[in-house]
Amino acid sequence: MFEPMERTGLQDLHFWHDPETGLQAIIAIHDTLRGSAIGGCRFISYPSIDAAVHDATRLAQGMSYKSALAGLPHGGGKSVIIKPDHLDDRAALMRAFGRFVDSLGGRYIAAMDSGTQVTDMDQIAHTTPYVTCTSAMGDPSLSTALGVFAGIKASVHFLNQRQDLTGIHVAIQGLGHVGYAVARLLHRAGATLTVTDIDSRLVHHACAEFDAQAVEPDDIYGVTADVFSPCGLGAILNAETIRQLNCRCIAGSANNQLADDQCGQALHDAGLLYAPDYLINSGGLIFVALQHANHHERLIRHKISAIHDTLMALYQEADDTNQPTHRIADQRAEAILKHAAQSQHQAA
Ligand code: NAD
Repeated sequence: MFEPMERTGLQDLHFWHDPETGLQAIIAIHDTLRGSAIGGCRFISYPSIDAAVHDATRLAQGMSYKSALAGLPHGGGKSVIIKPDHLDDRAALMRAFGRFVDSLGGRYIAAMDSGTQVTDMDQIAHTTPYVTCTSAMGDPSLSTALGVFAGIKASVHFLNQRQDLTGIHVAIQGLGHVGYAVARLLHRAGATLTVTDIDSRLVHHACAEFDAQAVEPDDIYGVTADVFSPCGLGAILNAETIRQLNCRCIAGSANNQLADDQCGQALHDAGLLYAPDYLINSGGLIFVALQHANHHERLIRHKISAIHDTLMALYQEADDTNQPTHRIADQRAEAILKHAAQSQHQAA
């Protein structure tokens, strides 16, 4: 149990069983040096408890990096509720999970993730104040899309020395909550779109609304475009897909886009500019974190638009040092976390 904690630098790992509802849940807290740990709650099936622990610890670390680069006063955490084979009362299960979150006294703030919905967050809010993404707060997807839009602008700015998106061709993979909103923002900014989704209704709507061209899901990688924007699945950048890419940069919302570290190096070697996923998709986290702290909408928008400048600086450093952008992002996040640890050490 301690091996994944040591490997990822996790601070603490909590388990909870509620006999009444059958709840089995895990909360992984990676770091609280910069503030309470924030991160999604997954509600999915796992082949084993070990697999659930592995998921929670790995994702909690990613949340620390994401919070750090987004300049949020939070550390990273992640929780999983192990989905039972049979469930009688989902609402009661969520309220029991809320008691678990509450028992940590605010060291962890839960957000929505794979398998959880706004209605679950509303139930969790019955038993703890340490929860975001409730129906009173609204959908973070638009904020994620605004961040991706800012990131696409930064990428085009860095490559073309101009911010204007008129005539810039963007190939979008996935037209869900984020991808569709990104398509709308790009269309309004004068970009030309090629889109795909496995849901043909969404493709049909996007073609009608944004005058977009449609391609089959497997053909999106080879589209000749300025920007490839992955807004669907994770791990889509692998040796096979990178070979097909016919764009100048990759800037989209999908989580964990690189199949592995080597793929980030391969993009760099191929001269393709890659917007690190956890930076460009941090708009939703900025929204939920600042909403939870009752900050004004104006500050939220300002923080999201700052993704542009953070990316520009990161691209410049990658260029100056001839390193892949994903590695610069990791180095910057690790430096922020190290600085917080040193400050606390000195204060002690
Ligand atoms: P979503 O489920 O609403 O949309 C995903 C879309 O991708 C769906 O329309 C789906 O049909 C499509 N898709 C799935 N497989 C595909 C394939 N092989 N080819 C083409 N399209 C495919 O999800 P979302 O909320 O829009 O999130 C999109 C991505 O961004 C996910 O990876 C998510 O983890 C990440 N993300 C989302 C947020 C947010 O605020 N929603 C925040 C950070 C990261």
